[in-house]
Amino acid sequence: MPDHRHEDRCCICGFIPPYLVESLADSEDARVRKVAFATLEATTTARATRLVNPSQLLGRSVAPGQGRSRVVYDMEGRSMPLPGTLRRTEYQSAVLQDEVDEAFENAGRTYEFYRSVMGLDSLDGGGFPIVSSVNFGFQVGNAFWDGERIVYGAGDGNLFLPFTRSLAVAAHEMSHGVLSFSSDLDYEGETGALNESFCDVMGISVEQYTNGTSVAEARWSLGAELLGPALADVEAIRTFEARPAFKDHPNLSTDPQPKHMRDYVFTDKDRGGVHINSGIPNHAFYLVAQALGGNVWDRSARIWFEAFTNVLNRRASFQQAALATASVARQKFGEEAGLAVSNAWRAVGVQPDVRP
Ligand SMILES: [Zn+2]
Ligand SMILES: [Zn+2]
Repeated sequence: MPDHRHEDRCCICGFIPPYLVESLADSEDARVRKVAFATLEATTTARATRLVNPSQLLGRSVAPGQGRSRVVYDMEGRSMPLPGTLRRTEYQSAVLQDEVDEAFENAGRTYEFYRSVMGLDSLDGGGFPIVSSVNFGFQVGNAFWDGERIVYGAGDGNLFLPFTRSLAVAAHEMSHGVLSFSSDLDYEGETGALNESFCDVMGISVEQYTNGTSVAEARWSLGAELLGPALADVEAIRTFEARPAFKDHPNLSTDPQPKHMRDYVFTDKDRGGVHINSGIPNHAFYLVAQALGGNVWDRSARIWFEAFTNVLNRRASFQQAALATASVARQKFGEEAGLAVSNAWRAVGVQPDVRP
C-alpha cells in the first residue's frame, strides 16, 4: 500500500470552487440557494469526517497491485460514511446504473491516458487502485478528491447534472492523486494555483486523448457536461482561453479567473485563490498547445506532466514552473519547443528567463 496520507489540514479539492458556491448562495432564487448550501454542507461533512478518522476512509476490500484496478461504490445520497456500498469492481461488466458505470469508465480512461501517454501505472505509478464513490450527499453539486478516492455528487438535476458526466472533471480530480504521489505541490497561493492548473491541464488532455481531438478541434473549456437546464445559457465552468467563461450571470456572476499576471487576484479565500489564479498557468498551457499544435498528448501535455511531477518542488512558484516547463521542453523536444514554452509564459506576464 502506498504510504501517502494527506495531512489533516488538507483541503477537499472540489471541482466547483468556493467563488461559484458563494455566487449560488447569494442567488435570489431560493432553490439555487438550497443547492449551494447542500453542496457546502456535504463537503464540509466530508472534510470533518477525515479530520476525525482518516483510516475510516481508506478503500477497503481493495488489494493493491500492478495494472488497472477500479472499484466503484455508491453513497446512495448519504454523505457518510465513505466509501459507501460496493457496486462494481474491475472484472465486472456494466451494472446498468449510469453514475456507477460512468465513474468506472472515467477511471479507465484516465488510467489509459496516464499509462499510454505518461508511462505511469495508475495514479502512483504502482497500480494504485482507483476508487470512486458516486451519489455522494443530497443534491451535491461538486466532485472532489478526498486524498484517497474520487467522490462524485449527483447534482440537483436543475443547476448541475451528475458529476460523473464529465470525463475532464473526473480526470482533474484523479490528477490531484497523481500530484500527491509525486511533487505533492502545496495547495495554497501560487503553488496551489499551479496544483489546480495541473489538474485542469491533465483533465482536458485526458478528454482530448480519449476523443482523439486535436488542439485545433478541441473545446478549450471545462464542465459543460455538468450544466443542467437552469445553467443552459452558460458555456462552461472555466476556460483556458483569454475571455471569461461567463459574464454577469444571474446565478454565477462573472468568471473571476485572470489570464495574465497583471490581473493576479490576492485574496484570503480559496486558500489564496487557487481556483482563481490557476487561470494564468492554464492560459500559458493553452498558448503552448496552440504554438506546438498537433495533438496535446504528443508534446504539450508531456512537457507539463514531466515538469510538474518530476521537476517542481512542493513550494514552486509560477516562475519556477515557467523555467521547469521550458527546460523540459528543450530537453525532450528541442530548442524550438523550449522557445514556444518561454514565449507562452512571457505572454501571461511570467518571466521564464530570470532565475527566482
Ligand atoms: Zn487535497
Ligand atoms: Zn482541483
